[in-house]
Amino acid sequence: MGARIGVVGSNMVDLITYTDRMPAAGETLAAPSFAMGPGGKGANQAVAAAKLGGDVLLVSRVGDDLFGGNTIKNFQDVGIDARHVLAVPGTPSGVAPIFVEPSGENRILIIKGANDHLLPADVDASAEDLRTCSLILLQLEIPLETVYHTIAWAAREGIEVLLNPAPAVPELDVSRILASTFVVPNQTELTILTGMPAETPAQAEAAARSLVDRGVKTVIVTLGADGALLVSDGPAVHVPSIKVKPHDTSGAGDAFIGAFAQHYVKSHDVAAAMAWGARYAADSITRPGTQSAFADAEAFAHFCG
Ligand code: ADP
Repeated sequence: MGARIGVVGSNMVDLITYTDRMPAAGETLAAPSFAMGPGGKGANQAVAAAKLGGDVLLVSRVGDDLFGGNTIKNFQDVGIDARHVLAVPGTPSGVAPIFVEPSGENRILIIKGANDHLLPADVDASAEDLRTCSLILLQLEIPLETVYHTIAWAAREGIEVLLNPAPAVPELDVSRILASTFVVPNQTELTILTGMPAETPAQAEAAARSLVDRGVKTVIVTLGADGALLVSDGPAVHVPSIKVKPHDTSGAGDAFIGAFAQHYVKSHDVAAAMAWGARYAADSITRPGTQSAFADAEAFAHFCG
């Protein structure tokens, strides 16, 4: 089995409006500036792994609008195999209009658009290429049926799966994700998954252990500035974070997972891959943006010193 990473997941276009204040109902207001950026959890994780030199295959859906072609080009530019990133006729691309006020407070809307059209049959149609992957990454910005289907298919094929249960979806049927090799939540997502508190590392360990007891092989809880916790058979392992001055922590989890995957498929060393992911995420939060903040292999080597 090669060191190929499959990602079955979302892509979005962030549409960021910087405004002095939000307009009232019926009011039209001029805003000082606007920026666009590629995003979506599946795309972010695929891009992080590819920028580090990982061999990445992405299965995703774009709209048949002006964003779709740009999104595919962005994947190709970083070396992602985007043959299974297809346009859905008559459907808009996934977008995230974001409104940022001078205080930094933001309001975000998510329109999933084409991401809602990534169906189990599309995974089946990509099966021949997904079979060449040794690890498949999943998140929850595509239909849950597609997530469950991919987990069950990969289990039958003997392919490892990493599920990032984000964003937290209360209606997730936990019994249908237990065949995942890795479940990688942050603390909020872990609480929603298990119904258990996860604010302290001890609480997070107990909550993660409850998933291992139900059949998940390995749970990795990301703890923000406190690093990450590995819970599997045997004692938990804490991987500390790298101390940096954070500028923008959005996308930290995606950076961690993309880098973790790129390291793990080569090393099969979970703790070393977590340390690599924590270092990559720490570097990414020193810059604004998500994908644009992800370093390539050369810049990351420089950060590592
Ligand atoms: P998410 O972005 O999904 O909420 P976390 O906030 O847990 O995920 O961050 C993911 C990883 O990024 C952490 O496990 C840690 O390694 C790194 N990280 C996040 N915030 C910081 C920080 N302030 N300083 C250093 N590393 C951080």
